[in-house]
Amino acid sequence: MTLRIGVVGTGAIGRDHMRRISKTLSGGEITAVTDVNLESASLAVRELDLNAEIFPDDASLIASDQVDAILVTSWGPAHEGTVLKAIEAGKYVFCEKPLAVTAEGCMKIVNAEMRHGKRLVQVGFMRRYDSGYVQMKKAIDNHEIGEPLMIHCAHRNSEVNAAYTTDMAMTDTLVHEIDVLHWLVNDNYKSVQVVYPKKTRHALEHLKDPQMITLETEGGIVIQVEVFVNCKYGYDIQCEVVGEDGIIKLPEVPGIVYRKDAQLRVNLLTDWKQRFIDAYDKELQDFIDSIRETGEPNGPTSWDGYVAAVTAGACVTAQKTGEREPVRLGVKPEFYKEIGKTKEII
Ligand code: NAP
Repeated sequence: MTLRIGVVGTGAIGRDHMRRISKTLSGGEITAVTDVNLESASLAVRELDLNAEIFPDDASLIASDQVDAILVTSWGPAHEGTVLKAIEAGKYVFCEKPLAVTAEGCMKIVNAEMRHGKRLVQVGFMRRYDSGYVQMKKAIDNHEIGEPLMIHCAHRNSEVNAAYTTDMAMTDTLVHEIDVLHWLVNDNYKSVQVVYPKKTRHALEHLKDPQMITLETEGGIVIQVEVFVNCKYGYDIQCEVVGEDGIIKLPEVPGIVYRKDAQLRVNLLTDWKQRFIDAYDKELQDFIDSIRETGEPNGPTSWDGYVAAVTAGACVTAQKTGEREPVRLGVKPEFYKEIGKTKEII
């Protein structure tokens, strides 16, 4: 059966996902669309030449018998309500991050899903589908570098707009490292600390940039992440895991090598969508395939959404106190223990 998908939110990533589901991926079909701005929903349907019904709101879209799964790509604060309604209706959900903007909101979703009794929700943490991270995970799981001891990361954007605030460096930017790194090393975060290096002259007055974050895991791994969102030179994601027996590093994005004007040069990407374009395709294909094959989504879970919210929240607190702040997750429910393993999909 084709998975019939209803889309809630037709902004930038919503349209991008609609395009990939309808033009690139297989096994899924967009049958319903809504947005707070119905003109935007109609335009997206017209632009992609879809045969999809426009619904006035998320509740009516979720109730439609033409919809098996909901793609939640609206504004972050609207996610929680839509996901809860979808679970209540027993429908599958692919929710872009954040699952909810608070840890309490994520926990409500975790509890609703457990009450439902079967997994319905996948969260859009696409880095777990990036071939570089997948290869690193395989190397760690196969003990190729012994026990991981330290991780050095950088998350750099060329620039950000005026709406970007200091706490968004944790909730919108670092959140991708928060998700992928605990998955990479199979460990939980114990504490976080944030320090501010000398500020770049390229950051607007209200924004502290760059920021250095130290995360410590329960197993004692120390992770340092530089978030630098006005780096000026491109979009650059770095990750190096130092183990007892060796070091592994995220591969550089391939590009042709120029020998010109007495220089050796490789162009860098400037667009995050391009950097992770394959991972976005794979995460949604995995969502569609795993539901069709097993009746449950296979990717990052509601619990992973909760872990991200708790950890990002602790980071925001740490920004204010300058202290090392605890990450209090509680016990992972049995319901989430054996699932959420990303398939080998390089
Ligand atoms: P965007 O361009 O602002 O799109 C959000 C869309 O949702 C807009 O069309 C907005 O309408 C609509 N909307 C707002 N509130 C809504 C509601 N209550 N019900 C239905 N629709 C509503 O933002 P975006 O960049 O696409 O981001 C959307 C979400 O995806 C965000 O949570 C973001 O964090 C996440 N995201 C994730 C990644 C990733 O790498 N995984 C990348 C990009 C974005 P108006 O324009 O009229 O307000």
